[in-house]
Amino acid sequence: MMFTSHMQIALTEARAAAARGEVPVGAALIDPSGRLVAADGNRTRERSDPTAHAEVLVIRAACAALKTERLPGFSLYVTLEPCPACAAIIAAARIARLYYGAADPKSGGIAQGPRIFTHPQCHHIPEVYDDIAAPEAQALLKTFFAARR
Ligand SMILES: [Zn+2]
Repeated sequence: MMFTSHMQIALTEARAAAARGEVPVGAALIDPSGRLVAADGNRTRERSDPTAHAEVLVIRAACAALKTERLPGFSLYVTLEPCPACAAIIAAARIARLYYGAADPKSGGIAQGPRIFTHPQCHHIPEVYDDIAAPEAQALLKTFFAARR
């Protein structure tokens, strides 16, 4: 089977998040057959909810739709390196593969900072692929924060 990147869907969600005044991060969740089951962007401001990160929203949507708490075999695409909280949730949901775009030296929890998946307390470690369409994701964030200064 040919590998198809779904990062463009996540990037579209990140742009939509920026248009809503949210930090431009988007996510897309793909089921084991390659079907898109959820896509969303950050909504922390809109919902007054610090947990409304793009990753959490798509995991919640998929779990609710499928009436399950685990998503084995699923692939998650995120435009930015997930934070430690999202990393723990990704592990709890048993996501099989994590594809992310830009590294997040400030708040990332995968390749830097707490490196959640390296802890012995982390019971499930997804395959991680970083640097997927990273320049595009990075440019969105840069533009967003430049406009706010
Ligand atoms: Zn997060």
